Amino acid sequence: MEERLLVYNQDMPKPKIIHKDYSVCSCNYQFRLPLELEVLIPNDDPVRLLNVFVEGMELTDLYQTYGKIKKSQASPRQLFKIVIYAAMNRIYSSRDIECSCRRDINFMYLLEGKPAPDHATIARFISLHLSQCSKKTLAEVTALLKDLGEISGVHIFIDGTKIESAANRYTFVWKKAVTKLQKRLCEKIAVLVEELELLYGIRLIFNGRKFGLRTLKKIRKKLYAIKKEEGIIFVHGCGRRKSRLQRSIETLEGYMEKLKEYTKKIYNCGDRNSYSKTDPDATFMRMKEDHMMNGQLKPAYNLQHGVDSEYITWLDVTQRPTDTRTLIPFLKDMEEHLSFRYRDIVADAGYESEENYLYMEENGQIAFIKPNNYEKSKTRKYKKDIGQMENMTYDEEKDCYLCRNGKEIGWICDRKTKTATGYIRTTSIYRCDDCKGCPHKTECIKGNNCKTPMEDRMKTLQVSKTMKQKRQEDLERITSDYGIQLRMNRSIQAEGSFANVKEDMGFRRYAYRGIENVTAQSVILAIAHNINKYHNKIQADKTGRHLFDLKESA
Ligand code: SF4
Repeated sequence: MEERLLVYNQDMPKPKIIHKDYSVCSCNYQFRLPLELEVLIPNDDPVRLLNVFVEGMELTDLYQTYGKIKKSQASPRQLFKIVIYAAMNRIYSSRDIECSCRRDINFMYLLEGKPAPDHATIARFISLHLSQCSKKTLAEVTALLKDLGEISGVHIFIDGTKIESAANRYTFVWKKAVTKLQKRLCEKIAVLVEELELLYGIRLIFNGRKFGLRTLKKIRKKLYAIKKEEGIIFVHGCGRRKSRLQRSIETLEGYMEKLKEYTKKIYNCGDRNSYSKTDPDATFMRMKEDHMMNGQLKPAYNLQHGVDSEYITWLDVTQRPTDTRTLIPFLKDMEEHLSFRYRDIVADAGYESEENYLYMEENGQIAFIKPNNYEKSKTRKYKKDIGQMENMTYDEEKDCYLCRNGKEIGWICDRKTKTATGYIRTTSIYRCDDCKGCPHKTECIKGNNCKTPMEDRMKTLQVSKTMKQKRQEDLERITSDYGIQLRMNRSIQAEGSFANVKEDMGFRRYAYRGIENVTAQSVILAIAHNINKYHNKIQADKTGRHLFDLKESA
């Protein structure tokens, strides 16, 4: 073999690689590729399915985001196909997509002979165009799946996960810390203003109020007027002594800058506790992936998936670290975009709240949510706990609970509380007046941090009657055969969608900043997941299956 090579090399003219255009040194290399690339792609390749699927979409909203479309370049539809196909193949970087468009025949097939778009075009497509209509595009995909009979349109499994933002991990702004600094600054400003009143005779009566930027600007204006009147010249640099007025103005301007900064930071936080400086839409959250094992908070988004028949039919990106308050906005958003309404809403214990139960009931939807205390209530310790209201007998006529000692825990009053979303919850307070000398007291009354001595304490219960009733109704539903099947499917389908996105598709961190761009990227992932799923179902002859059956125990 070595000999042959030697002979071959001797016979060949030596290449002179001195030109920028390497094709001039390609010697007599003969192209052997077939001119039609399509023949090289297998007939059951998912790229063909993607092509057909996207051709069946209208994409009107996407086209509307363009002013002019150049015929010589890749069309928005082709760019859309490319980004989806890239996500199906775990490619997320715009530079890697560009590279694939130049080398991969499947990408060339999607481009239909058009030149490969550069990385800036791909990034602009996602952040300027797709981000404007990402949810409408997902709604179109869902509608298409519904027409194909692939989704049921009856039950939806909802779950959430946190995905890290593109922002740096050490760019945090804490609302509490900034509020404290702002308070301290206000105190300093009050002292300064008092001083200025004395020094320059400025008429401003400080009555303990907070000085706003407008008042400070007025003071600065007055100081500059004094400067002009007295003809004071401001000096800068070493060896020059600043006048008292210059020092006062500089301190005031420094405070004004800081006040502006703190006000802006608090405004950016909104009702969140933190945000990142390099991605103000990201909130610091505790993540499951904690490589440093120190509970470090990272800038992230809470991604909510609605899954039906293993397809992601709806999604939402929120800035809240917990799931409870994300359910109602998710359902409202879904209803706004989809042409049908889901009847059965299946979610895990993190979504349980009185407000959520009532919203679904008013909306004609049925909740299948596992109660918060469901697992705990099945334990022996809980069942034996005599202090739990669930283990006491309720007397409906007298509206009181009967305790282990045979005493009545009677209703005292109703208390109304407003939740963070504005919902008013009514809690009934029950108290036992005869706990003195009870032998079960230490078992019945909990809370070791109470300052009142144990002998003076009385058993108190706080019960939301609405929540109690809704939870009971829900419990009956989720323990029925249909409820058990839905719960089993929730853990397979909803959590499976995240497993696919995070593990199989290898997506762990967003590449774009801002909630709109992050939503667009999440939609790309969801559509890629759906096409992959559709392909797998077709190939395995499992199309049209909506629910997994319960395994019958032997
Ligand atoms: S502490 Fe009070 S409520 Fe509890 S068992 Fe004794 S008497 Fe009943």
